[in-house]
Amino acid sequence: MPRILRVECAECGALLFVYLKMGEGRLWHCWKNRILRDYTVREGGEVRCPRCGGLVGLDKGAFINLKQRAVRITR
Ligand SMILES: [Zn+2]
Repeated sequence: MPRILRVECAECGALLFVYLKMGEGRLWHCWKNRILRDYTVREGGEVRCPRCGGLVGLDKGAFINLKQRAVRITR
């Protein structure tokens, strides 16, 4: 079942993505075509929190590789 997840900054709690998750298991990367809302700031290939500026992931083209310790996932 698809689920809508909120991906938040673990440091400051700012909302980073609203994401449509397909299937079970941990969210390791965000496919760009399943990101419903994107609040992050890009610096080259780096994906950063819009509030605290923390590095939350790396832009890999078709998807964003999340730094697991930098994000918090909620339903
Ligand atoms: Zn933050």
